[in-house]
Amino acid sequence: MDNPHGKVAVVTGGSSGIGRGIALAFARAGMQVVVTGRRAEHLDETARVFAENDLAVHTMRVDVTDLAAMKTAADEVEALFGRVDVLVNNAGIGLTGPVVDATTDDWNWVIDVNIRGVGNGIQAFLPKIRAHGDGGHIVNTSSMAALMPIVAGLYSMTKGAVVALSEALHIELLDERIGVSAYCPGPVHSNIAETVGHRPEQYAKSGYAPPNPSFSEFAKAQPYMTAEEAGERVLQGVLRGDMFILTHPEFK
Ligand code: NAD
Repeated sequence: MDNPHGKVAVVTGGSSGIGRGIALAFARAGMQVVVTGRRAEHLDETARVFAENDLAVHTMRVDVTDLAAMKTAADEVEALFGRVDVLVNNAGIGLTGPVVDATTDDWNWVIDVNIRGVGNGIQAFLPKIRAHGDGGHIVNTSSMAALMPIVAGLYSMTKGAVVALSEALHIELLDERIGVSAYCPGPVHSNIAETVGHRPEQYAKSGYAPPNPSFSEFAKAQPYMTAEEAGERVLQGVLRGDMFILTHPEFK
């Protein structure tokens, strides 16, 4: 993307953690930012943080699992700002526990939010990005868990699906100058980082040999990033038009 100034960006699940970090980085770069989330109090808190930083943000209460509500939100953003240029499908939930013990509700919930939520974002907002014909970018937040084993089977499964979906969409949209990225963060301080739990000792025991040895070193060292550092990484990826945006330099 040549010039982020004035571009309209939507970040789902943007009222906390990485999403808020991305929204702040986008706003600092001059984009007009819309943050969606489920909880009114988190959206209010996000509006306060932006105001303290002399930045503008528009917040909307929308659940990513509700396609009709997502489409209504996309219409509202278009009515308010006239266009959509960047979409970050960031909303997600963490889920731990052995796969064999997962309940039907566990399966449905993690698939609904982490996979279907990304699909709903694409189906609701891609028509708005297409409408102006100037290209754009869609970032889907996956995880390091999609690229190397961590101890959270259902979560990893959904994040692998997000990578596959992003690759397919990237091919679908090649001729439209709409970039698609899978963003695969390593540990970033947030609510989810507490839930999923990165366990380097289990990773070491697995004997998994990643193609790049720096993966192993990275996993042992567990260097956490802040959400704002992660947000800056995503902004730079969008500006470059990356297909993959990996959080840690060790991933290169
Ligand atoms: P977080 O809990 O702060 O952020 C997740 C956000 O998604 C929250 O604001 C939450 O309210 C929102 N959300 C959840 N379900 C939703 C729904 N149905 N509709 C709308 N919003 C919903 O945690 P985070 O770490 O900032 O997570 C952001 C993304 O990054 C997630 O997709 C997560 O899987 C991914 N991720 C995080 C890490 C990490 O270490 N923190 C690592 C890899 C990937």
